[in-house]
Formats: sequence, structure tokens, C-alpha cells
Amino acid sequence: KVKASGVSGFAFFQDEMVREARERDRLQRDLSAAIGTEALFPVYQPIVCLKTGGIRGFEALARWSHPDLGSVPPDRFIPVAEDSGLIAGLTDQILRRACEDARNWPEPIGLSVNISPVLLRDEGLAERILTIVQDTGLALYRLELEITENAIVRDFEAAKDVLGALREAGIRIALDDFGTGATSLFHLRSFRFDVIKIDRSFIDRMTREQESAAIVRALLGLGKGLGLEIVAEGVEDRAQKLALQQEGCTDGQGYFFSRPVAFDETVRLLRGKHDWARDRAVA
Ligand code: C2E
Ligand code: MG
Ligand code: MG
Ligand code: MG
Repeated sequence: KVKASGVSGFAFFQDEMVREARERDRLQRDLSAAIGTEALFPVYQPIVCLKTGGIRGFEALARWSHPDLGSVPPDRFIPVAEDSGLIAGLTDQILRRACEDARNWPEPIGLSVNISPVLLRDEGLAERILTIVQDTGLALYRLELEITENAIVRDFEAAKDVLGALREAGIRIALDDFGTGATSLFHLRSFRFDVIKIDRSFIDRMTREQESAAIVRALLGLGKGLGLEIVAEGVEDRAQKLALQQEGCTDGQGYFFSRPVAFDETVRLLRGKHDWARDRAVA
């Protein structure tokens, strides 16, 4: 690491900033070109019912395969899309493609799609989403939209109207990454969600750290009291899965069950007889 000191330190800092700005510009330009092409597509991670061990649905996660940089992670390109106005087109594309794919899954397997906070300020959002889903013919009740907690805090009134309209139409609404934001039991009282997804940072530590275990238990109690489904995110090992089952968590998602996979692989996963509730594959 270069130590920033005096004039040369400042010059170094400036160079860094210029370099970062250039890289962002480049990503933005390339992302703009990728939208509408096959370079941008969803992969799918199963969400598993912890009681039956069966797949209850899949979360669509955006992937971008860049001609020179290879696979660019969403944590890098989603912020660029949000800052440049590209997020609307990107979301339309992922949503449409995911709904088309989801139509091939047997009833009542569901589809979850992430919706950026930035989009919730747009009054036309509900209409646009409904048009896309209806175009593809996917039943509205099979779709779930994931909204991160922070999004809802920032502009609560606008978010409430848009989400309310979508929910009235029959789409389910999930609160994503719960526990990481500045919420907001207040928001849980003022808006009716269908699902809470507990952030993986809590699941990651729950079997090693009393505090995290207590928080997970409390969140499960909260979900139960409010009649919400709870998805534990980032389940990576058997110990976590067992602890969650013991505490009555309804659903789990994470590398223990499966990494995100291409559409073809979802069809294989649905045909296979994984008994994830009991940790073994049944022949
Ligand atoms: P998220 O919605 O919370 O999605 C879960 C993320 O955790 C995914 O990362 C997934 O691959 C990862 N994950 C799942 N199981 C495990 C596990 O057991 N261990 C660990 N360490 N990680 C696990 P991914 O695909 O890189 O996406 C990152 C974030 O990017 C997503 O977090 C979401 O906020 C955002 N994102 C992805 N696709 C979209 C999209 O189409 N639209 C928007 N607006 N955001 C998206
Ligand atoms: Mg999500
Ligand atoms: Mg999440
Ligand atoms: Mg996240």
C-alpha cells in the first residue's frame, strides 16, 4: 500500500480517482451496449422448503458476461446501472427473460426477482412490471419481488404506493437482506409484506456466535407472529440448516442446497429427487 503523504500522496489519490472514474465510464458504456443482448441474462438459485425439502421457487440473479473482463459480478454493475439510468432497461430484460423461463417450471414453483430501490421512485413501475408479466403469461401469484430494506426506508411513501399496487394485483413482496438496514419494525407494521429474507451475515454466524443465534431466533418469532414466510439466506452448511429447522424457519437458500445455476440446470434440479430436509439424495 502506498502511504498518502504530502504533495505526492495527494497526486496519487487524484490518479486513483481519475482511474476509477474512467473505469466506471467504461463499464457504463459497455453495459449500455450489453442491454438487449445475450450478454446479460439471469441465473437461478433454488429456495428450499425446510419442512419438505422440496424446491419452492428460484431467485433470478443477473449475470453479465463482458467480452474482455469476463463475468462481472452484480455488486459491480448494478450500482453503475442505478447511477446511469440503465437500471430500468436492465430490470425489464431480466424480468421478461426470467418470467419466460419460469413458465416452464411446474406449478406452483415460484420466481423471485430483485427490484432496485431507484426504480421505486418511478410511478410507472407497477404498470410496466404488470405488462411484462402478463405478456409472458406467468401467473401473477407465482412472482415475488425482492426489495432491500434500505430502499424502503429512503422513500417510504412512494415505495408503499408502488408496492401496494403490485401486491393488490397478486404479486408477492419480499423484504430482502433483512437486518442490515436502518429498519424498521415501523415499516413491517405499515406495509404488509409476504416474505422476510434474513440477511446471510446472521446465518453465517448463527452457529458460532450466541448474539447472531439470538437475533435469528427473534426474527423467526417476529415472522411467525406477523404470519410471514421467512427465508434464511446464505445457508452454507448442514449445522446451519439443522439449527434453522429446529427453530422453525420455513425456507432456506444458499450454497448448501445449490449455487445459482443456468435455466437448463433448474429443470434438472426440479426433476431430481433431492431430500434437502434430511440432507440426502433419494434414488
Ligand atoms: P441478493 O438479492 O441478496 O442475492 C443473494 C446473493 O447471495 C447472490 O449474490 C447469491 O449468489 C449469493 N449467495 C447465495 N447463497 C450464498 C451462500 O451460501 N453464501 C454466499 N457467500 N453467498 C450466497 P449475487 O448473485 O452476486 O448478487 C448480489 C446482489 O446483487 C444481490 O443480492 C442483489 O442485491 C443484486 N442483484 C442481483 N441480480 C439483480 C437484479 O437483477 N436486479 C437488481 N436490482 N439487483 C440484483
Ligand atoms: Mg435478493
Ligand atoms: Mg438478499
Ligand atoms: Mg444482497
